[in-house]
Amino acid sequence: MTDPTRLTAHELTDAFRSGAATPSAVTEAYLGRIAKLDGKVRAYLTVTDGRARAAAAASDARYRAGKPLGPLDGVPISYKDVLSTRGVKTTCGSRILESWVPPFDATVVTRLAAAGVVPLGKSNMDEFAMGSSTEHSAFQLTANPWDLARVPGGSSGGPAAAVAGDLAAISLGTDTGGSIRQPGAFCGIVGMKPTYGRVSRYGLVAFASSLDQIGPFAKDVRDAALVLRAIAGVDPADATSVDVPVPDYAASLGEGMRGLRVGVLEYDTAGMDPDVQRAVTAAIDVLKGLGATTQAVTLPTADHGLAAYYIIAPAEASSNLARYDGVKYGLRALGKDLIDMESRTRAAGFGAEVKRRIMLGTYALSSGYYDAYYGKAQKVRTLIRRDFDAAFEHVDVIVGPTTPGVAFKHGEKEDPLAMYLNDVFTVPANLSGNPGISVPCGFSTSGLPIGLHLVGRAFDEATILRVAYAYEQATTWRTRRPELA
Ligand code: GLN
Repeated sequence: MTDPTRLTAHELTDAFRSGAATPSAVTEAYLGRIAKLDGKVRAYLTVTDGRARAAAAASDARYRAGKPLGPLDGVPISYKDVLSTRGVKTTCGSRILESWVPPFDATVVTRLAAAGVVPLGKSNMDEFAMGSSTEHSAFQLTANPWDLARVPGGSSGGPAAAVAGDLAAISLGTDTGGSIRQPGAFCGIVGMKPTYGRVSRYGLVAFASSLDQIGPFAKDVRDAALVLRAIAGVDPADATSVDVPVPDYAASLGEGMRGLRVGVLEYDTAGMDPDVQRAVTAAIDVLKGLGATTQAVTLPTADHGLAAYYIIAPAEASSNLARYDGVKYGLRALGKDLIDMESRTRAAGFGAEVKRRIMLGTYALSSGYYDAYYGKAQKVRTLIRRDFDAAFEHVDVIVGPTTPGVAFKHGEKEDPLAMYLNDVFTVPANLSGNPGISVPCGFSTSGLPIGLHLVGRAFDEATILRVAYAYEQATTWRTRRPELA
C-alpha cells in the first residue's frame, strides 16, 4: 500500500472497509510523520497522541464489527487552536490563553467525534485569528510545506500546513475574512468557508462574531464535502446557526457543469501576480470546456469591502476580547489593584497585532465616531450583500482568484496594510455571509500553488462544491504534492 498519509479521507475509509488498512496503523503513520517532520513545518501546538490512539482503537473495533460510524470513521484530523477541546489546551495562538483548558468541546468537535474521527492535535494560528500569515502566533512560525522559507497563509496556517504536509488527513479552520480560503490557496489544498449560520460557532473562541465561520481543509473536494456534512446544521447552543436542511453534498458532486451559469468576476489587476491571473483565466476556460456558460460579473461595492471589514472586524474583536481581564480565565499579571492587574494582564498577554485591532475597534465604536466609521461600514456591508444578490439573479457561482499573489516569505509583509491586502478577494463573502471555496488551479513559475475562488448563493454550498469537483476532476493539480524529507 502507498504511504497512507498521502491518501484522502475517502480513500482511507475505503481502505478501512476493505481491510487494507486500519485506523490504528494509519494513526501511527501520522504520529510518526509528525514526530519526524513537524519540527520543520511547526503546524502543531499540541499533539494529542494518547487521545488519537484511543480513538483509533475504538474505530478499529467498529470496522472489525462491520459497523463504522460513517464516511469519516477513523480519519485523522487536526483542529485549529481556536476550537475548544475539552481537557486539551486551547490557546488561540495567544499568551493570554497559553494554559487555558476548556471544560467543554466545540459543537464541531463533538459532531466529528460522533463521526469517529481521530484527533491528532491542535494547530497553530495567528493570535485570535488576526492575520494572513500565522506570523502573529505568540508561539511559533509555521512553514509552508511547498517552501519552508514561506508562510502557509493565515490565520489558519497550522491546519492548512498540516493537511498540505500530510501531517493530518483533514483539518478544521475558521474564516472571518479569508482565513480558510487564503491558506488553502497558499498551501495547494481545498479550503471552504460555509455560509454564515451553516455551522455552529459554539465553542469557537470569538474574533468577530458576525463574520466567523468554521470550515474544512481537505486534500480534495470530496473530503471537504464529507467534512462539511458532518459539521453543518442548526445547534441550539448557537442562536446564529440556521435551521435549513443539510444536503448530502458528496452525493451531488458528480452532477457536472451542464446548465450552470458561471459569473466571471471583474477585478482590478493592479498589484496582481500575473501568474495568478493566468492560472485563473485558464481555469475559467476549463469550466467553459465542461459545458458552463459564462458572463462577466461586477460587485461594484466590493472595492470598499476591505475598508469596511477592517472597521467591523476590529470593532467586534475589541468587544469580544474585553473578557480577557485576568479574572475569568487565562493569564493573570500581578497589579496593585484591580484596574492595574487588568491592564498589566492585557499588556503582557496580547501581541502587537491584537493590540492594534483592539485600539482600532475601540476607536471606531467610540461616541462621536460610531456613525462615521462603524455605522458607515455596516451600510457598505449591506450594499455588498445586495451586489451579490443582484449577481446571483443571473449566475449560479462567481469565480475569481482567491488571493492576489502566492505564498510570501516570512517577514516579507511587515506593513500591516500590505498584510491586509491579502484579503481583498475573500472578505466580501464574509461581509455578505455567502459560502466560498478555494480549489487548487495551478502553480506559479516559482512552483507555488494558486487557488481558484468560487462563491455561491447563501446555503448553496452544494453548487460550489459541485463546480469545484468538476474542475478538480478535469485537471491534475492535486497529483502534484510537496516533498518534505
Ligand atoms: N486576514 C484577516 C484578518 O486578519 C482575516 C482573518 C480571518 O479570517 N480570521 O482579519
